[in-house]
Amino acid sequence: MSVEHIEQATELFRRFLKAQDLKVTRQREILLRRIFEREEHFSAEQLEEHVKGDGISKATIYRTLQLLVDCGLIVEVALKDDRRVYEHIYGRDPHDHILCMDCKKVFEFDGAAMTALEAEMTRRLGFRPFGHRLRIEANCEVLRKTGRCDRDEIKLS
Ligand SMILES: [Zn+2]
Ligand SMILES: [Zn+2]
Repeated sequence: MSVEHIEQATELFRRFLKAQDLKVTRQREILLRRIFEREEHFSAEQLEEHVKGDGISKATIYRTLQLLVDCGLIVEVALKDDRRVYEHIYGRDPHDHILCMDCKKVFEFDGAAMTALEAEMTRRLGFRPFGHRLRIEANCEVLRKTGRCDRDEIKLS
């Protein structure tokens, strides 16, 4: 993610916080930057690990994650072992996810076809599209056939 994108995302977040009468704090901005520095799916626990040393409390991490979701800068992608998995979407190309129900891995695929469907369906029913989230849940064929699955998660750039 470019510095420019991080700056834009930070600005959006500041505006969102102000509109909610919430404080723009250094901790919140650090968290946003740490999230946007990486192009990975992450859980709150992983983020906690990543910001170790920044002196940010667990409560602030969880609260800020929810604020970033509400603000539309990040989304919840999947549940992995009861942990919510997030990603940032600002500045990224539209994509959707396949979640392996057996291996719990997350695979991304190009969202062009779904975006076209979104446009078509909303147009037909008289809506203006705002966005969509698609999660395909699937079983692991590799695991079924060979007894193990070493596939890496797929992250589109
Ligand atoms: Zn993703
Ligand atoms: Zn698998």
